[in-house]
Amino acid sequence: MISTDAAAVVDELRELFRSGVTKPVAWRRTQLTGLRTLLAEQEDVFLKALYADLRKNAVEAKRAEIALVRNEIDHTLENLDSWLTPESADIPRPLRPGDGRVVREPLGVALIIGPWNYPLQLVLAPLVGALAAGNCAVVKPSELSPNTSAAIAEHLPNYVEGVRVVEGAIPETTALLEQKFDTIFYTGNGTVGRIVMTAAAKHLTPVTLELGGKSPAIVEPGADLAVTAQRLAYGKFANAGQTCVAPDYVLAIGDTGPKLAEHLAETVGAMFGADPATSDSYGRIISTRHHDRLAALLDNGTAVVGGEADRDERYIAPTVLTGVSPDAPVMQDEIFGPILPIIEVSDLDAALAFVNERDKPLALYAFTESDETKRRIETETSSGGLVFGAAIIHLAAPDLPFGGVGESGMGRYHGRYSIDNFSHVKAVLDKPLA
Ligand code: NAD
Repeated sequence: MISTDAAAVVDELRELFRSGVTKPVAWRRTQLTGLRTLLAEQEDVFLKALYADLRKNAVEAKRAEIALVRNEIDHTLENLDSWLTPESADIPRPLRPGDGRVVREPLGVALIIGPWNYPLQLVLAPLVGALAAGNCAVVKPSELSPNTSAAIAEHLPNYVEGVRVVEGAIPETTALLEQKFDTIFYTGNGTVGRIVMTAAAKHLTPVTLELGGKSPAIVEPGADLAVTAQRLAYGKFANAGQTCVAPDYVLAIGDTGPKLAEHLAETVGAMFGADPATSDSYGRIISTRHHDRLAALLDNGTAVVGGEADRDERYIAPTVLTGVSPDAPVMQDEIFGPILPIIEVSDLDAALAFVNERDKPLALYAFTESDETKRRIETETSSGGLVFGAAIIHLAAPDLPFGGVGESGMGRYHGRYSIDNFSHVKAVLDKPLA
């Protein structure tokens, strides 16, 4: 897309925004209802596209790409009036008489740039917030999931007003980023996150960066290792490990490592059968480049389960590695694939030190029965989110803010946090003249 086209798209939306049509709550509700209808009427189209892009099975796609967004819509429709009600604020005695209140006003035109791993959810969930807050939006789905991108471009504009879809790769995104937006919401990797933030700085545009990184899972003696293995395996092997909050690696305290590895091997068998390559419920890697990157990590430890790869199929088996060195390549960058290394550490202090010596993760998981351990992890580490006893499920709780910290991102969304993210929170002080 040449920049004049990008400029025309933004100009058109800005004009619509300035007309004031997006501000009434009724307009916002209509758009959210439109999104809900889109998901209902085009479900089959989206399921086919997600299968073509990622071999995402229908059950997983319905849960993670469709139901999750529908729940976000319903939760927002239910609470929108109360979230938008101005909050009254106390005025200090020397300034009285007068009334103070806090109002949330839409920012204007938002740019939403999506990734390929949950290519529908990660475009529509932010869009729910943008529209509910009364904005217009340009949506740029990932070119690496071309079928889902095309389905979004074809159908979304038929169900909502104030939204334009721009498909494309780096040239199209670059042209969009040259334009002045009122907020930019980017989901993807930190390298592109820096490009987005640099472009935004030219226009002083606020950004939300939903990034990734290595999210650790701490396992302590005393935790039920069979249940721990099931919950870790679900979080790790859904979408073939291509989930921003998938547990990246395990820090197994004391003697938990070998037993946990056995349980994980059993769980993988129960989830996908003896040969996951033939399972309908197991996905594929998005591209040959990512396949090759992951295949090169398979020998970074001893595979207690998995270890196989098939380049033609872009298949990487669900793999658990033991005997992994913290210096191994698999422990350097986010894995973003179905390989789970287990690192053995002596005690909780060593686990906390391991986490704190590295970038702040998007998610931190811990499996323990000890309240004292929970308290220490909560107060002595920093991460986008913290989950005890499970993995990845926190992103489905719309009253919990979802976002990163440090290298895992900035800003947060879901539920009322999306409204704040896509609004200006304005101070109003009203003092009588007499
Ligand atoms: P990606 O390659 O699809 O890129 C994301 C978007 O950036 C795409 O729309 C793409 O067109 C655009 N882009 C790519 N290069 C660009 C450039 N040079 N200039 C401008 N735009 C460009 O997705 P990805 O980055 O490979 O996604 C994987 C990463 O995203 C992982 O690190 C993962 O953890 C993270 N992620 C985070 C979340 C979250 O919610 N925090 C969710 C999903 C993925």
